[in-house]
Amino acid sequence: MARYTEAVCRLCRREGAKLFLKGSRCYSKKCAFERRPSPPGQHGVRRRKMGDFGIQLREKQKVRRVYSVLERQFRNYFVVAEHQDGVTGENLLRCLETRLDNVVFRLGFAASRAQARQLVTHGHFTVNGVPTDIPSFVTKAGDRIEVRESRRSLEPFKNAKETLRSHQAPEWLGLEPARLAGSVLSLPRRDQMPLDLNEQLVVEFYSR
Ligand code: SF4
Repeated sequence: MARYTEAVCRLCRREGAKLFLKGSRCYSKKCAFERRPSPPGQHGVRRRKMGDFGIQLREKQKVRRVYSVLERQFRNYFVVAEHQDGVTGENLLRCLETRLDNVVFRLGFAASRAQARQLVTHGHFTVNGVPTDIPSFVTKAGDRIEVRESRRSLEPFKNAKETLRSHQAPEWLGLEPARLAGSVLSLPRRDQMPLDLNEQLVVEFYSR
């Protein structure tokens, strides 16, 4: 499974926004973007004027990097979104939000999407009772995601019941802290996806 393995804080500096890729560090004083918000590289501090293409490209990269998806897979999501009923940009975000790694993150089992992806690939979860270790697995309304019985005593889940009790899952997900489980109540609407992203620019980028 291909994935980005370089320093992720560079990505926030490149996109000029906090992408929250490192869990609790992102909320601390150690956040690299808080300390140095200029783009990375020797000429990072130089101001560059961007045209429409540049703006669309940067937004596309931002969305892709928030969900840690490589270009080819991201493009595939766009093609799927384009063929669905409704607004393409919203469909695209919904495709990304319903990935299993994102659902695990949103349910509060992990501090970041990267950590959620690792938990999934290590086979800690079941979907509807079936062990599933594919981060890109697309969940549907009615799916139930649960920590496997045999993994509940492992480090990431030892104190999870307590921490999950104070976690606020989005309204399209139902969290059951006592059972270390959650379910997809419905597919998310745009207003239920709290993202500071302009998906319309991504649509414009791919529609050039
Ligand atoms: Fe981005 Fe988080 Fe790194 Fe800050 S700590 S630069 S928000 S990944």
